[in-house]
Amino acid sequence: MVELLSPGGNLEKIKFAIHYGADAVYCALKKFGLRSQASNLTKGDYLEALDFVHIEGKKLYLTLNAYLFDRDFEELFEIVDFLNEYPPDGVIVSDLGVLNVVYKNTDIPIHISTQANVTNSYAANFLKDFNVKRIVLARELTLEDIRRFKKGTDLELEAFIHGAMCMAYSGRCFLSAYLTGRSANKGDCTQSCRWKYTVIEHKRPNMPMDVEEHKEGTFIFNSYDMCALPILPQLIESGVSSLKIEGRMKSVYYVSVVTSVYRDALNTIIEGGDFKSMIPYYMKELESVSHRPYSLGFYLGQPKQYLKSSGYIRNCKFCGVVVDYSDGMAKIQVRDRIERGHYEIILPNLKRVSLNLDCLYDEDGNAKFYGNPNEFVYIRLPEKVEELSLLRKCHESNSGEVEVQKAVL
Ligand code: SF4
Repeated sequence: MVELLSPGGNLEKIKFAIHYGADAVYCALKKFGLRSQASNLTKGDYLEALDFVHIEGKKLYLTLNAYLFDRDFEELFEIVDFLNEYPPDGVIVSDLGVLNVVYKNTDIPIHISTQANVTNSYAANFLKDFNVKRIVLARELTLEDIRRFKKGTDLELEAFIHGAMCMAYSGRCFLSAYLTGRSANKGDCTQSCRWKYTVIEHKRPNMPMDVEEHKEGTFIFNSYDMCALPILPQLIESGVSSLKIEGRMKSVYYVSVVTSVYRDALNTIIEGGDFKSMIPYYMKELESVSHRPYSLGFYLGQPKQYLKSSGYIRNCKFCGVVVDYSDGMAKIQVRDRIERGHYEIILPNLKRVSLNLDCLYDEDGNAKFYGNPNEFVYIRLPEKVEELSLLRKCHESNSGEVEVQKAVL
């Protein structure tokens, strides 16, 4: 069965990803994991995550997909020794030097990162001789490219289904390193492609000119986000083994909602349910998380750039996590201010409990009108909810949903 693979930016997110339906998570230690701004895992966190994931019968893949210099290798060898003692289910690499070290010093299955831009079965089959078991496909491949690729190899293929995209080829980009000294190839991208740029005519260096397509300016390098939900059946049929959600830097709410939507969608497809009729509901949920307007990525052809703005859209505010429930009262760890009003509790199986909150309580049972981040508050709930359910507040929106669906329906 096709695998649903979710981002594990830290230990907490790994637990939520598994709880909300992921078959596997990918995560990094503090070094060499291509998301240096994510909190990532200490060695202790990694060991706890590995235990947790395996007890749940799921898998954990560790990213070592940065591009390294010779000065980095002493530390890489230390990490490889550690992984030999506590092996993950796969190691994700890009750099040929890292591949060389992992291949020669461990038996851990190797996955080739999307950052390595593998776009054909000939490259994949060459890599097979180095204990490579899986290729994370370059994001620029179309569905037709993937079908052909799969015909040429028996390696597992992994494809992105959701999350941010780069305007550079599979993220092999030097813009951020050039402008800020923070390298995307070391996991430290500043997303410089999203910035606003001006044009300078070379004989008039002091006269920068705005490129203005509308009042906010023009964002010529800004990419759409990917949302491949409407074409999931075609992706499965193309022969991929694993479907990957991007977003190790995103919130617990993002990881939970996106994972649970794709979990339900995959179950519906596999069980022969009416997937098409569920798409509007799934898309509404995917609109609730922080994102840029959605496209289908490159699967049906060039997605083009999103020129209007580089801001994020989100239709719901993530307010808290249920940490306990007893006698009709849920204990909530507050993540964003909670006041009186209409809220929803979301559960892993896509179930939603709607509630009008007219009073909150402290642990002594005293009434409160609001809860602030990092506090614990108690709320009365009409039905029992499990731990790790999430509290959110939503508003209506009309963003990218229609655009993605029009392309397919
Ligand atoms: S600057 Fe933009 S295109 Fe380059 S790696 Fe960062 S997000 Fe990708």
